[in-house]
Amino acid sequence: MPETVRKTSDTQVVYSMCGMCSVRCPIQVEVTNNRATWVQGNVNDKGMASSLCPKGVSGLSLEYEDNERPQQPMIRTGPRGSGQWRKASWEEALDYVAEELKKVMDKYGGQGVVLSDRGGPFNDLHKAFIKALGSPNYFNHDCTCGRNTHHATQSIFGVGRKGIIYDIPNTKHIVLYGRNLLESLHLKTTKQFMKALDNGAKCTYIDPRSTFTASKANRFWQIRPNSEYAINLSLIREILEEGLYDKDFVARWATGLEEMRSAVAECTPEWQEQYTDVPASEIREFAREIAEDAPQVMFHAGWMTARHGQSFYTARTAHILNALLGAVEVPGGIPFSKKFKDAGYDSLKTLGEKIPKPEAKRVDGCGWKYPHFDAGPGLLHLLFPAIDSGDPYPVGAYITYRHDPMTGLPDPEAIKKSLDKLDLVVAIDIHYSEFAWRSDVILPECTYLERANLLAERNGLKPNIQMRDQAVPPRFDTRPGWWIFKELAKRLGKGEYFDFESIEDIWAYQLEGSGISIDAIRNKGVYSLVDKPIMYDRETSLPFKTPSGKIEFISSKLSENGFESIAPFTPPDELAEDEFKLLFGRSAIHTHGQSINNPRLHELVPDNPVWIHPDRAKALGIDDGSEIEVSNNGYTGRGRAKVTPWIHPNAVFMLHGFGRTVPAQTRAYNKGIADQRLQVGYLTSYDPAGGGNNLTECSVRVRPAKAPKGDS
Ligand code: SF4
Repeated sequence: MPETVRKTSDTQVVYSMCGMCSVRCPIQVEVTNNRATWVQGNVNDKGMASSLCPKGVSGLSLEYEDNERPQQPMIRTGPRGSGQWRKASWEEALDYVAEELKKVMDKYGGQGVVLSDRGGPFNDLHKAFIKALGSPNYFNHDCTCGRNTHHATQSIFGVGRKGIIYDIPNTKHIVLYGRNLLESLHLKTTKQFMKALDNGAKCTYIDPRSTFTASKANRFWQIRPNSEYAINLSLIREILEEGLYDKDFVARWATGLEEMRSAVAECTPEWQEQYTDVPASEIREFAREIAEDAPQVMFHAGWMTARHGQSFYTARTAHILNALLGAVEVPGGIPFSKKFKDAGYDSLKTLGEKIPKPEAKRVDGCGWKYPHFDAGPGLLHLLFPAIDSGDPYPVGAYITYRHDPMTGLPDPEAIKKSLDKLDLVVAIDIHYSEFAWRSDVILPECTYLERANLLAERNGLKPNIQMRDQAVPPRFDTRPGWWIFKELAKRLGKGEYFDFESIEDIWAYQLEGSGISIDAIRNKGVYSLVDKPIMYDRETSLPFKTPSGKIEFISSKLSENGFESIAPFTPPDELAEDEFKLLFGRSAIHTHGQSINNPRLHELVPDNPVWIHPDRAKALGIDDGSEIEVSNNGYTGRGRAKVTPWIHPNAVFMLHGFGRTVPAQTRAYNKGIADQRLQVGYLTSYDPAGGGNNLTECSVRVRPAKAPKGDS
């Protein structure tokens, strides 16, 4: 076993980070005789106190009740996806993967290997691994998450979406476009939001569906699906027309005001009403109200906005509204995220900095063929056409780390066809994800309670370091990610870049020259570099990284690449009698597909009934709780109807992550409907300006179920 638990026969507290979703909240774990008996929020982190969400609490269920996960390395023996496996030792599985990777690299070069993960603060390890192989092809899941918002933020402020903070605790008014803070949980943010409301902050919530967040809002606009961009255009016009904007701030820091004014000239409140269902009078009233609350206001630009063809422009105009109201770098608005250097420290050392940059360009074209897309983690949906065509070069191997593209991206059948063209498919995961089940080798990682990770560098108003420490020994023959990548690198002749024997060696390297001791971090789980929030001087030192050094209402980079900065609004499609836009989202109980088979969470939310408006349901002969069929483009899923007025008549809604097809996950298998399976043809449908997948552009047809149970 490569890591050591601090053993004692008494109960001890291990500070760590939750792994039940990608937020990774600081936690503390009580351990007695090497068994975790209690998990709660880390009390050393004031934002957490002792809180955990239902998923966080169910970490113990994952640990001790979920045996339906890979328990040792597995090598495929039958066709891909057949579920025919043989158990393998770590030695054999790692040798096998390394040999196959060598063959791919001999055939196609290092760039023929690609890797994707779910991003996050530990990904230096995976990025370093793929870089060491000579491949620029690191991807994450962001094309179905925050890429539109990321590129929109870059086009205005010159920094990515994580370069700004939403200072919720100090705000007077928060505007949310489907950002369902009370169910799509980011625990500290959720708590901040509730506290802010208690303290008198207002919330305006915009969504075709009423969520728990909507129930707490002062104003809820139940808009037509995919129409919120029209609201933003008309708000900009109204604020400019009525002179409600912060003229000094805009004059000092922004460019393109007059061009923007012309672009929105026709977007009156009456104009938007025909597309959104929001009364013109309410737009006017809201514009005045939020201008009075400025600058302690925020239009939350995402990250999930709505993921349709104009999500990029929705996020862009949300930030334009922030800038017009002078909310940039003020408490209660959107300050810049501060980095370690702002706190007087160097960043943690990275494993990747020792490795030469690969010569090849990214296979997805990000950063060169598409210069307006950030090269960083690229756009994963563009990988699959590249695999299919071999253009700009062939790809032979795909490794995923804790990532399930067949759940996260649209149209898994299309992904399958691309994967079938590859020589090697490997999943490193703790679950039988849909992708893992169709891979050639599963290298099972131990759970987050059983492993330590790299130190996490957290930027923000108060930059800090957080630690995931190992709390208990693994129950099965599984290994931590850092050990798996090190062993693979060694077998591939790249061991010089991964010359550590323990996680402590990696931590020591990360902290080199910082003057911070590992004990100082380990003893509390969090280490704050400063006591007070860091703010820049708003008069003189706002670090906009745009070409002009200012806020660009009209982006020079977008113009250079042939895109408009304020595109005309595209009205939503006309829908047939039985046709709906397919919306999806989360509850507070599940983390996408990864928790659906968790014994406790499955008990709480075992499937995903389809929300449908009573008027539409009646017209189609659908009763509450009755069996229905939802179809698109040759695929039909069967589920139950939830008839409710809290969904716009033009849309149906379902929770994401259901409809699992892996028989080894017996609790989740075949329960509910998988929205991504209905999104047939949407893998390569994306917004060319923002890059994000057009997920909610998908229309489905709904009817009462007639055929025998089972998908056609
Ligand atoms: S939001 Fe919940 S599941 Fe996610 S990291 Fe925090 S406690 Fe864990």
